[in-house]
Amino acid sequence: MSKSKSSESVKVVVRCRPMNEKEQAAAFECVVSVDVKFGQISVRNPREASAGELPKVFTFDSVYDCNSKQLDLYDETFRPLVDSVLQGFNGTIFAYGQTGTGKTYTMEGVRNDPERRGVIPNSFDHIFTHISRSQNQQYLVRASYLEIYQEEIRDLLSKDQSRRLELRERPDTGVYVKDLSSFVTKSVREIENVMNVGNQNRSVGSTNMNEHSSRSHAIFVITVECSELGVDGENHIRVGKLNLVDLAGSERQTKTGAQGERLKEATKINLSLSALGNVISALVDGRSSHIPYRDSKLTRLLQDSLGGNARTVMVANIGPASYNVEETLTTLRYSNRAKNIKNKPRVNEDPKDALLRKFQEEIAKLKVQLEKRTGRKNKRRHKRRAGDCSNGDGRDEESEDDDEEEEENKGDYWREQQEKLEKEKKAIMEDHSLVAEEKAQLLKEKEKKMADLKKEQEAGDMLSAKVKAMESKLLVGGKNIVDHTNEQQKMLQLKRQEIAEQKRREREMQQQMECQDEETLELKETYSSLQQEVDIKTKKLKKLFAKLQAVKAEIQDIQEAHINERQELEQTQNELTRDLKLKHLIIEDFIPFQEKNKIVNRAFFDDEDEYWKMRPITHIEDDHQMMSRPQSAIGFRRPLCNHARVAMKDGPDLRYKAENILLLGMDMPSQTTKDYQRPDIAPKVAAALEDVLKNEDDLQVDASGFNSSFAPLASASGSIRKQKSARPRTGKQSNTWTSSFGVHNPASPIYPQCRGLVPK
Ligand code: ADP
Ligand code: MG
Repeated sequence: MSKSKSSESVKVVVRCRPMNEKEQAAAFECVVSVDVKFGQISVRNPREASAGELPKVFTFDSVYDCNSKQLDLYDETFRPLVDSVLQGFNGTIFAYGQTGTGKTYTMEGVRNDPERRGVIPNSFDHIFTHISRSQNQQYLVRASYLEIYQEEIRDLLSKDQSRRLELRERPDTGVYVKDLSSFVTKSVREIENVMNVGNQNRSVGSTNMNEHSSRSHAIFVITVECSELGVDGENHIRVGKLNLVDLAGSERQTKTGAQGERLKEATKINLSLSALGNVISALVDGRSSHIPYRDSKLTRLLQDSLGGNARTVMVANIGPASYNVEETLTTLRYSNRAKNIKNKPRVNEDPKDALLRKFQEEIAKLKVQLEKRTGRKNKRRHKRRAGDCSNGDGRDEESEDDDEEEEENKGDYWREQQEKLEKEKKAIMEDHSLVAEEKAQLLKEKEKKMADLKKEQEAGDMLSAKVKAMESKLLVGGKNIVDHTNEQQKMLQLKRQEIAEQKRREREMQQQMECQDEETLELKETYSSLQQEVDIKTKKLKKLFAKLQAVKAEIQDIQEAHINERQELEQTQNELTRDLKLKHLIIEDFIPFQEKNKIVNRAFFDDEDEYWKMRPITHIEDDHQMMSRPQSAIGFRRPLCNHARVAMKDGPDLRYKAENILLLGMDMPSQTTKDYQRPDIAPKVAAALEDVLKNEDDLQVDASGFNSSFAPLASASGSIRKQKSARPRTGKQSNTWTSSFGVHNPASPIYPQCRGLVPK
């Protein structure tokens, strides 16, 4: 059940930090001017100012200059939000901005210094003070702390820091982190401890804390559950959840030359932030029905805070120095868009997963158990007492005031019992009429009784300790009235201050409105002379022209920013495409086609986790190897032979526990080589070869036509012949060639004609 409320905008405030020492030393120009009264920030771009352009002006719900105090920010901006969380609304505070502009300072601040403590420690105080002042309400406060780094969620309070958590969604409660630990905290000190542990884990998990924190998002979650008796006489629980988010630095990450891990990091670092920007744009646009919450872990987790069931404050942190002007303008534009997001906050009443309800039920159950125990004790006691006054007269009397007595003597009961047993033991020892054996038997019995008694006592103690521990986790207020009156006075004072501040703001707003009214009145004025009209209208025109120029410049800036962003995305896309092509090359050229198909058939995309996963091999219907498994495997984890099945039916025989039928058919790899094929030989070459390889007996050389100058050649040919005969001859080859080609080839002048042996 939830109370519907009308929609309200995301509140955006801007905070400009003071110049730091380095900036002062380098004498950087201050380009940001903050008008706290009108909630305006104007930024002068030195490059554009020289070209005659006007400063850029942005208006926000509130703006804070470099002299702003942490407590001012808290009282004016965050206190109302935390108050509504205490009433059962969801609330979110984002800190957005470039690294080093004061996000962590705004969220955490300097915790040991009350003046410089940030929103998170101030909210701890606020929540627990509120609880201590409450009347007739029961509270349960718990805290979780997580970090999103490179699109992976880490539980900062868990012992196992290597574990990555998954996001899940439930129709009733929405998106949540599965297995995220949360700690019930009973005081400011306890919740501070939780935060310290988380911060330690955050820094331990990284080699360079600054670097890491500028690239990761940290979310501290406080859940406040409150149980109160409603007008219907039933207990109702309201649950408010406060998300305190310190976002990653919004500066552009340079990606040039990034590869492998670094490329992955570069593409993922700002993914959440650009997804956040896209979500904001889509929400503000109003035309797009699809809001890309699912594009990143951050936007999915904080889905409710953006356009959903939550009150949201966004703090945009900026620096004043000139060298940061581009980033400052980007931050301001980004936050300017967020102003127009409409949320629909409502009180979360009686949700199914309220821990407080579970605690109350558990305590009630334990109390019943404890009562049962006490009941048993009572019965025994009655019996004992009835036995004592065997004449029967005193029994009723005793039963009447037994309840009161029971309450009073709860602790005495065990002692009494113990003393009694001791006494009985002693009496047995001293009784000389008993035989030694009998004595030993009786003593043994008594000792057993004493041991039982002790066990029972321990169990009872444990149970009541458990009840106490659980009850102590539920916080109730109204304990120290004197303190409260003091604090209430202090609070009242604060409230008065707040009201005064509010009034001052109202007055200023009215002044602003009056100013605007004057302007419109001027338009309606009638003019006494034509010249006057021309003058006034020229003035107006000039003003409007300046405005037009400012808007034009703004449009150009936005276009430039878009182009930059597009170029960056294209670069990332190109790098990823290159990476993909390499993977393709490897898969296509080095992974056998069938293997690839097998993997492709098994793989499926898990929308929930947004990862490709492999189906377990047994679930593939069309896998031939699986289909050829014997029928004997059906209904069993493994194939079993019939004998084993029968034996198993008779009783759980270990002998057959692991009996398998092995599948011995081999999964043959496909052939990756070719059979040898004889090359095609050109007829000329074949003829030549045929000639050369011809059987020596068939060879007739007539050297009569050669003159003496050829003699050495003839002897050389003789030697060649010798060599030829030494060559191994494959019958097959020589046969084929002899049969297919003629030896006498008149067309070939190189070879001498064969005319039998040379005559002497
Ligand atoms: P971020 O978390 O945005 O990277 P930090 O919160 O770490 O930036 O701030 C950087 C430095 O500037 C810190 O030393 C911090 O103390 C200082 N600083 C930031 N904002 C303010 C401020 N409003 N007043 C004084 N010091 C500030
Ligand atoms: Mg930081």
